[in-house]
Amino acid sequence: LDPSGENFSSEEFDIERALRPLSFDDFAGQEQVLENLQVFVQAANLRGDALDHTLFHGPPGLGKTTLAHILANELNVGIKVTSGPVLDKPGDLAGLLTNLEERDILFIDEIHRLSPIVEEYLYSAMEDYRIDIMIETGPNARTVQINLNPFTLIGATTRSGLLTSPMRARFGISSRLQYYSTELLSGIVERSADILKVPITNEAAIEIAGRSRGTPRIANALLRRVRDFAQIKGNGKIDMEIAKFGLKALNVDAHGLDEMDNKILATIIDKFKGGPVGITTLATAVSESAETIEEVYEPFLIQQGFIYRTPRGREVTEHAYRHLGRIKGSSQGG
Ligand code: ADP
Repeated sequence: LDPSGENFSSEEFDIERALRPLSFDDFAGQEQVLENLQVFVQAANLRGDALDHTLFHGPPGLGKTTLAHILANELNVGIKVTSGPVLDKPGDLAGLLTNLEERDILFIDEIHRLSPIVEEYLYSAMEDYRIDIMIETGPNARTVQINLNPFTLIGATTRSGLLTSPMRARFGISSRLQYYSTELLSGIVERSADILKVPITNEAAIEIAGRSRGTPRIANALLRRVRDFAQIKGNGKIDMEIAKFGLKALNVDAHGLDEMDNKILATIIDKFKGGPVGITTLATAVSESAETIEEVYEPFLIQQGFIYRTPRGREVTEHAYRHLGRIKGSSQGG
C-alpha cells in the first residue's frame, strides 16, 4: 500500500498497467486539465505538429504517467519512458532522443531529479530539437550537432518547487493534478473491479473509495487486497461486510489515513504539543525522509484539514485531535 508505488512487485506492476485507462474517455476526473489537453491534442493533430512540451505535477498515484500514455494514444505516436534518477549521463539521453520518431513522446518521470548536466543537455533538445554529441576520443575528440525529430517531452514531478526555473520555462503546458473525490474514486474502483472480474456492490466500492486518500493508485491497491479477502474469507464477491473486514485488517482507518499518516499526527500532538514543528525534526521523529513526508503524506493531511503549515513549521488542527481521540492541551509525551 505504498502510495508512492515504488515498492510494487512486478506482478502488481502488471496489474497496475492492466487497470490503466488508455483514452481520454476512460480517464475519470481532472476535468479542467483534460479539457485543455483535448484542445491541444486536436490542434497538434490538425497541424501535424508535435504537442508542446508538457509538465504534470502533483502527488504520486494521481495519474501523471497514465496521462502521458493517453496523450501518446490520442496523438497516435510512440512513447519512450524513463526517469530523472535513471538518466545519469548525457549520452543516455542522447540515445533516447535520437531514436524518437517525428512527434513521439519522451516521458521523464521524477524530472526534478535530473542531474544538472543532463538537464542542461535537455534544454537545446527541447528548444531547437538539436543536440551536440561527442564523437571520437582523445586528440580527435570533437562535438557535432545533430538535428532531432520534433518531439514532445512530458515531465512528471511530485515536487514542482524543486524544478529549476529554466526547466519550468521550457514547458508550454503545465498541469497540476488534484486529489479525487470519493465519488470519482468509486467509479474508478468499479471500473477496475470489472477488469479484474470481481463482483462488487456499489456501497462497497464507495467504502473503498472513501479510504483511498483521494488517490486512484491506492484505490486500486485496496481493491486488490480486499479481493483477496473476498476470495479467501468470503464467497468471492466484495460486499460491504467483506470490504470493512479487509480494510480493518489492512489498518486503513475511516478517513483513509494509513499508519504513517496517523503516526505523523500522533507524533506532532504527543511529542511537539501539537506543533509547530520543523519538517526535519518531524521526519527524524517518525523515521521517514523529509522529502517523502512533503511529497506523499503532507499534501493529503493538509487537504483534509488535519495539519497546516506555518512559517515556524507544521501544526495539527482540532480535527486531528478529534480524529485521534485526544484532548487538546493534554499531551502525553515529553
Ligand atoms: P502517477 O504517475 O501520478 O504516480 P499513475 O498514472 O501511475 O500515477 O496512476 C496510478 C494508477 O492509478 C494507474 O495505474 C491507473 O490505473 C490509476 N489511475 C490514475 N488516474 C486515473 C484516472 N483518472 N482514472 C482511472 N484510473 C486512474
